Amino acid sequence: MPAPRQAHDPRRRPGEPFQAANLSRAELMRIIRAEHLGMCFGVRDAIALALEHSRSQPLTILGDLVHNETVQAALRARGIRTASGNGPLETESVMVTAHGASERAMAQVRARGHSLLQATCPLVHFAHQAVANLVREGYHPVIIGQRDHVEVRGLTEDLADFDVVLREEEVFEMKEHPRIGVAAQTTQPIDRVRRLVELIQERFPNSEVRFADTVCQPTKQRQHSAIELARESDVVVVVGGAHSNNTRELVKTCSRFCPKVYHAQTASDLRQEWFEEAHTVGVTAGTSTPDPVIDEVERWLLALATDSGEPRGLPGEREPVGTAHHLEAA
Ligand code: SF4
Repeated sequence: MPAPRQAHDPRRRPGEPFQAANLSRAELMRIIRAEHLGMCFGVRDAIALALEHSRSQPLTILGDLVHNETVQAALRARGIRTASGNGPLETESVMVTAHGASERAMAQVRARGHSLLQATCPLVHFAHQAVANLVREGYHPVIIGQRDHVEVRGLTEDLADFDVVLREEEVFEMKEHPRIGVAAQTTQPIDRVRRLVELIQERFPNSEVRFADTVCQPTKQRQHSAIELARESDVVVVVGGAHSNNTRELVKTCSRFCPKVYHAQTASDLRQEWFEEAHTVGVTAGTSTPDPVIDEVERWLLALATDSGEPRGLPGEREPVGTAHHLEAA
């Protein structure tokens, strides 16, 4: 149980004594959620497809279905395997994740005698089509994203020639082409993407640069809501997997507008001292974070704010959040 902390009264003037008797802890520490946060429809549908298929047939997923250890643990508990593209595939059915895959990678799996289940998000499909259209129309393809991210590998593996850029220095390493077609990894912050597109236009003034906006709407909404949340909060908690790209991007974005931003995978990562003197605590979450994990974080904060007892979500206190039951509820 956390020791009672010296609460901060937002209505108190400087120098005025703290009047705890008139205020509940809930009034002292406001907890707000971002308008848009958490699991997107693409990830939700991919999890539902994997769970449904695994009820009738053993299933192997090509890579992590989502970059969230809670979800991965729940899938393992259901007997669902994860494999790399070149590793052994122990089941007849093999699933492509929401991040998609190249035609070449999928053909290799089929050639090994496996049936392929597609959970590629429609918005990743859209990005593949956008890149294919740019190439068909004679543009040199440039992807703004993380070179080693599974989605970017899927977008580029079928291409003969391409560039991947994420940092401004990488734009200066690009060669000139008469026509340059730019698309983005779906989870990149749109303001970064636009800045890099402008930089490419400035760097190659004699080239025709066309930009296909492939950043997905759920990412844009979460980024926009995170900025509004961070502006209003003294502390922001971003809930999501340690390896989730879009969760880390939310941390970076919030850090531009709020001095105290913490990344928590689950409620058990939260520390009471993070919230000392905080009037408003904002909560947001990446697109691979299940609702029950966010709820658990919010309940922990509420317990802290109201001193209603033990913050929940600590190991061993209650049902772990990563059960299949919770996944299906998400
Ligand atoms: S983050 Fe966007 S592109 Fe990726 S699965 Fe979710 S909705 Fe689809």
